[in-house]
Amino acid sequence: MSQAENIHDVVIVGGGPAGLAAGIYTGRGGLDAVLLDMMGGGGQVNTIDRVENYPGVVDPESGIELADIMRKQSESFGVAITFDEVKKIETTDELLTVNCTSENYSAKTLLAASGASHRPLGVPGEGRLTGRGVSYCATCDGAFFRGQHVAVVGGGSSAVMEAVYLSRIVERVTLIHRRDSLRAEKIQQDRLFAADNIEVLWDCAVEEVLGNNEVSGLKIKNLKTGDPSQLDVTGMFVFIGLIPNSTFLKGVVEMDDFGFIKTDTRMRTINPRIFAAGDIRQDSARQIGTAVGDGITAAVNIQEMLDTVTPDRQYVKS
Ligand SMILES: Cc1cc2nc3c(=O)[nH]c(=O)nc-3n(C[C@H](O)[C@H](O)[C@H](O)COP(=O)(O)OP(=O)(O)OC[C@H]3O[C@@H](n4cnc5c(N)ncnc54)[C@H](O)[C@@H]3O)c2cc1C
Repeated sequence: MSQAENIHDVVIVGGGPAGLAAGIYTGRGGLDAVLLDMMGGGGQVNTIDRVENYPGVVDPESGIELADIMRKQSESFGVAITFDEVKKIETTDELLTVNCTSENYSAKTLLAASGASHRPLGVPGEGRLTGRGVSYCATCDGAFFRGQHVAVVGGGSSAVMEAVYLSRIVERVTLIHRRDSLRAEKIQQDRLFAADNIEVLWDCAVEEVLGNNEVSGLKIKNLKTGDPSQLDVTGMFVFIGLIPNSTFLKGVVEMDDFGFIKTDTRMRTINPRIFAAGDIRQDSARQIGTAVGDGITAAVNIQEMLDTVTPDRQYVKS
């Protein structure tokens, strides 16, 4: 049967922590839920080397392991991840149509849990040399730079954590930061300053990535003095913030100037059938714990809304 003929209680877009937490709750609640993810799920957690600030995870655990546990838990309640990319949402008062690359889905409600993606620097050479020395994931690509000198760009917790991770693999790390102090958590900063193969270039910005087929260096500018310099590195890892994956909801829900979705405390958007959870939400703390909390809050409120609007519907028995 075509998916379009089947009206689901909820379509969850995104299989990161927010979507998987919602999958566990909607599955346990007996809702007919479909969970779509264009990458197979896990989200940004797949890129974390060690998760140590998610309550309950006491031993150092890799992000990949944690994501796998969440995925299996959601599947155990009948909500498995379907590979598909959501392109557009069409709405009527009664129904939502979720247009994807391979299939279209009809649903009574939708949860946008499609998270966020890395923000590029936007300098010459970056796009051309991505995958050839430019990377946005130290856990994925760090091993390619064993024994080499690499740069990390950024000053928040992700940049500092990844610089420390890389310092255990590579010969030398240079952290390049636009300001004269870091925004990262204190524990991360302590680890950074304790590493004897990490140096920090304060008040500096990357102006260009150099190299023909592979990264051979970076053009740097000191933002206080205006002085130019060149840093000879073979890799550049960029951690300067996130862009929300919300394009498919443009014009359908309210967003801030950056594209993060506005919700109330029940994760409701201005469209009564559309909810949002996790990193895609305006004012999210952008952590695994907050994404999970948002996903649960959204699932509970979706169930409540469906109970009010369609009290006679059939529950799924798992
Ligand atoms: C390097 C790094 C280190 C981090 N370290 C920590 C840490 O130590 N502790 C911590 O708590 N947090 C950490 N975080 C943050 C944490 O990973 C995120 O806050 C969390 O993953 C957000 O979950 P989410 O479900 O909202 O979104 P995401 O994890 O971004 O998942 C969104 C999912 O949606 C899918 N998707 C996107 N668009 C579409 C579409 N159109 N159609 C279908 N699927 C789509 C994506 O494929 C993805 O799987 C780190 C993040 C990074 C990048």
